[in-house]
Amino acid sequence: MSQKDPSDQKPATRAVTAGRREEWTGPVVNPPVWRASTHLYDNVAALRAGPKANEDGRFFYGRRGSPTQWSLADALTAMEPGAHGTMLYPSGVAAIAGSLLADLSPGDVLLMSDNSYDPSRGMADTLLKRLGVQTRYFDPLIGAGISDLICDKTRAIWMESPGSLTFEVSDIPAICAAAKQVNPKIATLLDNTWATSHFFTAIEKGVDLVMNAATKYIVGHSDVMMGAVTANERHWWRLRRTAQSLGHIVSPDDAYLAARGLRTLDVRLERHQQSALTVAHWLTEQPEVAHVLHPALPSCPGHDIWARDFTGSSGLFSFVLKGGSGEARDALVDALSLFGIGYSWGGYESLAIPADPAPNRSATPWPPADYDPADKYVVRLQIGLEDADDLIADLATGLEAFRLAQ
Ligand SMILES: *Cc1c(COP(=O)(O)O)cnc(C)c1O
Repeated sequence: MSQKDPSDQKPATRAVTAGRREEWTGPVVNPPVWRASTHLYDNVAALRAGPKANEDGRFFYGRRGSPTQWSLADALTAMEPGAHGTMLYPSGVAAIAGSLLADLSPGDVLLMSDNSYDPSRGMADTLLKRLGVQTRYFDPLIGAGISDLICDKTRAIWMESPGSLTFEVSDIPAICAAAKQVNPKIATLLDNTWATSHFFTAIEKGVDLVMNAATKYIVGHSDVMMGAVTANERHWWRLRRTAQSLGHIVSPDDAYLAARGLRTLDVRLERHQQSALTVAHWLTEQPEVAHVLHPALPSCPGHDIWARDFTGSSGLFSFVLKGGSGEARDALVDALSLFGIGYSWGGYESLAIPADPAPNRSATPWPPADYDPADKYVVRLQIGLEDADDLIADLATGLEAFRLAQ
C-alpha cells in the first residue's frame, strides 16, 4: 500500500501512510502489538546467521524491536525528508542522551543554545561534564555568528527552536551551514519537539540528528513516555550503535500507542495551532499582559525566521505579566479550572505552569534588556483541543485573580 517515495507526499498524507508496510501489518490497518523477548530461529544455522544479518526490520532479539517498533520508527523517518533512520527511546530525555553520547567523547566541546530545555542543560552540566565534555552556551539568535564560537575541539551543536519556555526561533539553516563550513565533522542536533517534523523538516534544513520528545504531540494523549532521534545517513550508524550499546528499547504497547497518535497528528496540530493563536491574540489585548511569547506573533524574537522556515505553529507558548508578584502569578494559575497544572504538554488537554527562565540562562539575560524590569513573571500555556472561547473565559478568571492578589 505504501507509495514508493514518501517524500513526494504532503505531510498529512505521510502521517497516514508511513510505516504501514504490508509485511508488518498483515491484512489489518495497524501493525499488531508483537510482544517478544525471544525470537525463535528455524535451526542452529539460522541462529548463527542472526547477528550477522542484524539489519533493521529483521527478527533477531526483543531488544532490537519487532514490527510494532519498526513500523513507528519507519514512519518517523518518512516524516523527515532526507533522513536515513530513527531510533526510539524510553523518554525524550533518553533520546537527548542517546544522541549526544553518540557524538561526544572526552575532550570535546559542545555548543548548546541558551534557551534549551532544563534537563538538556542539566545533562550537559553534570553527566557530560563528568565524561570530560565541556559545554558553552550561545544566544539562540546567533545565526551564522556561531562560527566565531567554534574551536578545534567543537564536536557538536545542540539547538532548540523555538525554546520551550521563551520561544526564540533560531536560524537553524544558517547555524548548520556556518558550522559545516568551519568543520564538516561537527554534528548539528535539534530538539524539534515544539514543531515536530510536521511543521519543521529539520534534516533537509541542515540538521544531522533531530530529536523529538514523542511524549508530547506524537503520542498526543498524555499517556506514554517516548523519545525519538531521526538521523541522516552520515550520523545514523553511530546513533544506532550507541542506542544498542545502551540497551535502549521501547515497549511494543507504547510504540503502538505512539503510532496511533501519529495518524491524527495533522488534525490535532491544526486545532492546537488555531486555538493557541486565538488565545495568544486575546492575551495581547489584556492590560495585565506585558508580552506574549509565541513564534507566530511578530513581536517574538526570531518571528521572521519562523515565517520563513516553519509551515505552522503548535499549541505551546508563554506570556509575561505586567508587574505583579510571584504570589499574584500563582493565584492566576490556581484560579484556572480548564487548564491543568502540570508538566509535559502535547496532549489533548490544556495545561498551565508558572515558568522561571532566569536560572537556566547563562549566555543571554532574562528578562531581556528591553523589558521593563518589573515585567518578569511568566506563565506557560499548552493549548489543548477544548473550545478556545472556553479557554479564554478561564484565563479571564485567572487574570482577575491576578489583579485581586496584587
Ligand atoms: C518534554 C520535553 C523533553 C523531554 O521529553 P520527556 O519524554 O519528558 O523525557 C525534551 N525537550 C522538550 C522541549 C520537552 O518539552
